Amino acid sequence: MKLDIKSCVPDEIAGLMKQWGQPRFRADQVFSWMHSGCESFGDMTNLPAALRRKLEEECCLTCPSILRKQVSEKDGTVKYLWKLGDGNSVESVVMKYRYGYTICISTQVGCRMGCMFCASTLGGLVRCLEPSEMLDQVLFAQKDMGIRISNIVLMGIGEPLDNFDSVLRFLQLVNSPQGLQIGMRHISLSTCGLVEKVDKLAEYNLQLTLSVSLHAPDDETRSRIMPVNRRYGVDEVLAACSRYFEKTGRRISYEYAMIRDVNDTDRHAKLLAEKLKGTGAHVNLIRLNHVEERGLTPSTPQQIERFTRILQDGGVAVTLRRRLGSDIDASCGQLRRKTENN
Ligand code: SAH
Repeated sequence: MKLDIKSCVPDEIAGLMKQWGQPRFRADQVFSWMHSGCESFGDMTNLPAALRRKLEEECCLTCPSILRKQVSEKDGTVKYLWKLGDGNSVESVVMKYRYGYTICISTQVGCRMGCMFCASTLGGLVRCLEPSEMLDQVLFAQKDMGIRISNIVLMGIGEPLDNFDSVLRFLQLVNSPQGLQIGMRHISLSTCGLVEKVDKLAEYNLQLTLSVSLHAPDDETRSRIMPVNRRYGVDEVLAACSRYFEKTGRRISYEYAMIRDVNDTDRHAKLLAEKLKGTGAHVNLIRLNHVEERGLTPSTPQQIERFTRILQDGGVAVTLRRRLGSDIDASCGQLRRKTENN
């Protein structure tokens, strides 16, 4: 097995160069070539030929190919379907906002959390992504579009905290001064609420935004739509979020997909407001994206408005997520599936 060198942090590459009798600055060169989207060791032209050969012998350089690229005619959102080294595929979505480009990346091939409304979980989990494979989504989207990405959200296919070590390493890589230098405050990580992992993440005290997919304020409703709730109930998740806030000082953002007659009644809104009031948290309402296989219906705009007002009156900050790329199925929970079936 060759070493997946793009998953290595600068110190590890420095260690490797030392072992090979190379000067320290070679490590920086290799690192910055990789992080600028270089596709082969042979292209690293400022390295001595012997080092390039050694790298080729000992290491592999991941490089996904674009299986499919779709550009939204409505808002310019771009969706990529990447083919990975082993033939699996994952998607990323690039969105343009006033402040720059944001990429939504996948962290696993498939997902094992089983949320009722989500298409990513329909085929179960195939495998976790390597740090290099998460990084490649950013590098090669940038390269293909000729842009610089300023924000990253870990909200694509997969449960990031179910791939904890690789995700953490990925964060370290994109944050690195010799690499993309994307600050933690420009990164959001979305989780269905794996309590032990939320606590573990808090230990690192990163300044990223933690988004928690809550989708219901009570166990009965949440267990119906999110099987993970049978392991970690609503109050346990909320308690872990308070601990996270205490430890990191970062306010939690809760995602709430509005599903007609399932989690969108006035009763749900009141209970949600009661539970979140005074926590400094923020609720991000999402219109449910219709997933054919799931048979759930999005809430009406009127009910979303009522729900919003009840939360606001209850003292909770709330926003409705903008829908970008809806004409290319770029929205939450819809990634990968269609192409895999076609
Ligand atoms: N596994 C992580 C991140 C991936 S999903 C998590 O659960 O948070 C990103 C967000 O999209 C989550 O909030 C998820 O619940 C939501 N989502 C999934 N399917 C959706 C759908 N059909 N409509 C609206 N939001 C959906």
